[in-house]
Amino acid sequence: MSWFSRLTNGLSKTRKGLFFDFPSSSKTSHVDWDSLEFSLISADVGMELSDEIINDTKANLEDGTPFQSALEKALLHQLEPPGIRHKLRQVGFNIDVTRKVVEPKGQVIMVVGVNGVGKTTTIAKLAHYYRNLGRSVMFGAADTFRAAASAQLEFWGDKLDISTITGGHGGDPGAVAFDAATARKANGSNLLLVDTAGRLHTKHNLMEELKKIHRVISKVEDSEPADVWLVLDAITGQNGLEQAKRFHQAIPLTGIIVTKLDGSGKGGVIVPIVRDLHVPIKFIGIGETLDDLQPYDAASYVKALLHRPDHTT
Ligand code: GDP
Repeated sequence: MSWFSRLTNGLSKTRKGLFFDFPSSSKTSHVDWDSLEFSLISADVGMELSDEIINDTKANLEDGTPFQSALEKALLHQLEPPGIRHKLRQVGFNIDVTRKVVEPKGQVIMVVGVNGVGKTTTIAKLAHYYRNLGRSVMFGAADTFRAAASAQLEFWGDKLDISTITGGHGGDPGAVAFDAATARKANGSNLLLVDTAGRLHTKHNLMEELKKIHRVISKVEDSEPADVWLVLDAITGQNGLEQAKRFHQAIPLTGIIVTKLDGSGKGGVIVPIVRDLHVPIKFIGIGETLDDLQPYDAASYVKALLHRPDHTT
């Protein structure tokens, strides 16, 4: 299956809930704005941003732009992170769906998020992604709180032939992070993916634990080190946004991965994440297999969301 088909299939739930029949006319009076607003809010875009998208769409229709393009442009306006807006102007409506490569800052990515969001599976998918780019990868199992967490990471490690540094159950996660970062340096692997605990994200001690892991890795790596990527489950919609804010306050996030977009009609939550947090979305998860992790690209995302069979690319 092509990359774009995978993406459009993965987003089908949001797409179905999101949009009603597109009017063929570009006259604003022919559009059912109330239904559009309702569907945007149902997809968890949020009230305020839904209004902005609708107003932008209306403005775009004024010069005779067809409805789908007007809406596409309005969505893209919200989803393009600051700094690359010029791309929007450059490409107009001819959106490029070329696959881009997501590069981490350094050699370590700490993966954080509450239990059940898909953290461990995402780590395996990331390993698969970076290995396909020719990088050597290692795992650090710094969730020592749940024995099952290390076991699950080791399972993926065995399956992908990736070595996993673990600690004893209940042991110090900072010590595992230290061992893993030291091992990465010693064997010269390109990338260390560190799994972390995800219990009770509201509790102070978890946040302290994450900060410590980050400090330890920084020390070993000798530089501003680890990326901190938060995994968010799209099904949690607006609650996910609150989770992200709490993590971000404790430990500055350098990226977000939104998982389970295939199982959710809440794909619109990406809009407030981009707008409110100013943390880039790195990847999106659209299924359970290793290939179901895609670099996030606003233009492709919008295109896939609004994709109609007649408009196949
Ligand atoms: P963790 O507790 O955060 O480490 O979560 P897991 O990695 O164990 O994942 C929990 C469940 O979510 C598993 O059944 C995964 O297969 C599933 N999962 C993870 N990512 C996705 C995704 O993008 N789409 C779907 N449909 N399922 C996913």
